[in-house]
Amino acid sequence: MPSNASDEPILPRLPEALVENIEAGQDSELKAALLENVALREQIANQTHLLQLMTHQFATPLTSLSGSLVMLEEAALSAEQSKEFLEFVHQDVSRLRELLQDIQSLQNLETGKLETQPQPFCIASLVEEVMQGFAIHMPVYEFEPAIPYVNGDRWQTAQVLVNLISNAIKYSPDGNPIEIGAARVPPDWIEVWVRDYGLGIPEADQPHVFERFYRVKHRDRQHIHGTGLGLSLCKHLIENQGGMLDFESKHGEGSRFFFRLPVWDEVVCDT
Ligand code: ADP
Repeated sequence: MPSNASDEPILPRLPEALVENIEAGQDSELKAALLENVALREQIANQTHLLQLMTHQFATPLTSLSGSLVMLEEAALSAEQSKEFLEFVHQDVSRLRELLQDIQSLQNLETGKLETQPQPFCIASLVEEVMQGFAIHMPVYEFEPAIPYVNGDRWQTAQVLVNLISNAIKYSPDGNPIEIGAARVPPDWIEVWVRDYGLGIPEADQPHVFERFYRVKHRDRQHIHGTGLGLSLCKHLIENQGGMLDFESKHGEGSRFFFRLPVWDEVVCDT
């Protein structure tokens, strides 16, 4: 079982002698069939790898769930202890639900079921709308005045903001404030950022955080739960709209995630 998403899928190989024979021969149809076969093998290896990762992700909450159920069934627990185990059951069920929802969204995106519906909208209003769901934290807004509308899918952008803001809060255990802003980047982009002063991302993990199921395994976040799918979903959602998503981060100091969407010049935000 791979320990993390960075482990490469293992590709089953054709026997060397067979490949050499086909390559040496003149039969172009056979060569085309060979190439097709290699592509299919690659696809199967990737799917198998994904399944292994998924199995691994489901196993942890399921093991903990059955442990809590055994305790609830068999042990003579006080009312308070039963309540505590029931709370664990609820947490595990919601982790499983979250995992399923993320897998489903990713699947919808990858199979083209989730259509992008671009329309001009004001990013500052969308951020404020999304922030209403995060009442506890006081964000700092840094919107450029009279910022032009972006041309994108409002719902998909909202999903990305929810994910990035949730991460900024989740990985800032000291409760440091987060900053959210937007500015025009020449020639034709609006950049939107979510900055936090939390845990940051270790350098060795940085190239992998957009991979499906990848989670940083540092001890500073071992009690923070997640599916490892959020950032990979965000990347798909932004690229689906013709934009780009990236980040800068320093372990122990914080992170700045930012995405760019095309500008729609005719209207400016009234902020
Ligand atoms: P999840 O949060 O469910 O693990 P994500 O795909 O959202 O999955 O993030 C992948 C990893 O990147 C996380 O495990 C986390 O360690 C790291 N990460 C993401 N956002 C931040 C952030 N704002 N600050 C620090 N680490 C982050």
